[in-house]
Amino acid sequence: STIGSLLDKVAQTHGDREAVVMLHQDWRMTYAELADAADAIAANLLDLGLRPGDRVGIWSHNRMEWLLTQYATAKAGLILVTINPAYRKSELAYALAKVGCRALILADRFKTSDYHAMILDLVPELADAASGPLQAQAFPELKFVIALGETQPPGFIPFAHLQRIPTEQARHSLADITRDLQPDDPVNIQFTSGTTGNPKGATLTHFNIVNNGYFTAKTQAFGAEDRVCVPVPLYHCFGMVLANLACLPAAAAAIFPSESFEPEATLLALQHEGCTALYGVPAMFTALIEAAEGSDMDVSNLRTGIMAGSPCPIELMKRVIADFGLTDITIGYGMTETSPLSFQSALDDTLDRRVSTVGRVHPHVEVRVADDDGRTVETGVEGEILTRGYSVMLGYWDDPEKTSEAIDRHGWMHTGDLGTIDAHGYCQIVGRKKDMIIRGGENISPTEIENHLYKHPDISEAAIFGIPDERLGEIVACWVIPKPGSELTPERVVEFCKDHIAHYKVPARVRLVEDLPRTVTGKIKKFEMRDSEIARSR
Ligand code: ATP
Ligand code: MG
Repeated sequence: STIGSLLDKVAQTHGDREAVVMLHQDWRMTYAELADAADAIAANLLDLGLRPGDRVGIWSHNRMEWLLTQYATAKAGLILVTINPAYRKSELAYALAKVGCRALILADRFKTSDYHAMILDLVPELADAASGPLQAQAFPELKFVIALGETQPPGFIPFAHLQRIPTEQARHSLADITRDLQPDDPVNIQFTSGTTGNPKGATLTHFNIVNNGYFTAKTQAFGAEDRVCVPVPLYHCFGMVLANLACLPAAAAAIFPSESFEPEATLLALQHEGCTALYGVPAMFTALIEAAEGSDMDVSNLRTGIMAGSPCPIELMKRVIADFGLTDITIGYGMTETSPLSFQSALDDTLDRRVSTVGRVHPHVEVRVADDDGRTVETGVEGEILTRGYSVMLGYWDDPEKTSEAIDRHGWMHTGDLGTIDAHGYCQIVGRKKDMIIRGGENISPTEIENHLYKHPDISEAAIFGIPDERLGEIVACWVIPKPGSELTPERVVEFCKDHIAHYKVPARVRLVEDLPRTVTGKIKKFEMRDSEIARSR
């Protein structure tokens, strides 16, 4: 089905179930309300003059308007382009130009922000476009800029206009378009996280993400009683697919604690909303454990959830299970380009497998592990993970070259991640190909050393990466965030490694830091640490 037809079906069968709670907006909606509101917005978007296949950008934190826009654009056959609210002018300009957005929606609160000013700077014609479509020189395709708020600077269309009762004619054109929509139509361009460089715009279809949401819900046995706490951002696949589109087929509720991740707000949501599932990237779980320390909160409803997005340290998984009683938490492995999940642990996996592997391959996804020449390796041997199936994106928007580097002519998506799959199908991710360290001919996996460091009682977070070395090619470098109040020193970190891991893996350089360079979702940008270490050693 398409996203819209699925929403309509759930609105009919489970109309009064709570669909979404935006705690920071104090706004709750049932599935019936969500479907009705999305219909009105969809019709009004078409009334503006937008047509199926047009790109509509959304530049916002987690808000109800974001979700309404997601469903409305899907119903109207538009392609939603999710833009990170942390983007500044040049990044926004890049995204707008790259995908040729015809409309841009700023669903954020603008009380204090400079978003309006940034847009006016990029699109000076806005100031004169009091009515009618824009004529922007730098972005010839951009015709409409829509924003929240009662009062708008000239040229901006208030979001409230989209929420008005649509005309009969607009309703008819929506019905016509909905009827013709196909599951294989593109519905979404999502930028990758930009962990290894510039974000790439992955083009995804209804079929891609509806199905991935469905299988994710199934793996966690979601039902209409489930209440899923979603502190992850909506503008990435974790939020908009694994949260929204996993709740939808199950008629479960998605609970958003805050606009962007806040540990305290998340803990409150878990308790007061009776959440049964919790999502997050590893860094969020680390912050939640620290914030919950010493409090006697009641999270007894918590049952399952997903940790995903970057390597999930074994010690962290154990802490999450112990501190939150989340015995049925799963690890997911995936990427934006594959809608996103390819692997996920199952509720009946043993505890040991659940903390140490990313589980087995999702239904209807093919996988193989390949060597540098693309040949499948023997079971248990490390290689690059390749996936194929319904979940692989159409391609990177307007980038045939990058697309054919990523997806080969047989349809295999080259993930760029290294891992092993054992005889029972359980997969361990060893790290990114780009992050592997080759020291004097020895391959070193950063994840393995990081997992060891997490056993140290004074280490809050650790990141291992390689830096160039004249003699050995590369050497191991390490940045560590000490726990508050600890007396950790670089020497102690080295000592802690020496007795337990092979000498060549012991970090040659250790730096204690207050924080690590991250993407907004909390992923660690190793290339920035590498550059910084290289600059220091000059
Ligand atoms: P970019 O492609 O722009 O550099 P990115 O790869 O981080 O950024 P995403 O698509 O959001 O962008 O993330 C997918 C990547 O995240 C995977 O390729 C993998 O490296 C990593 N990842 C996701 N889940 C896990 C996991 N459970 N364990 C280890 N790594 C993971
Ligand atoms: Mg990637």
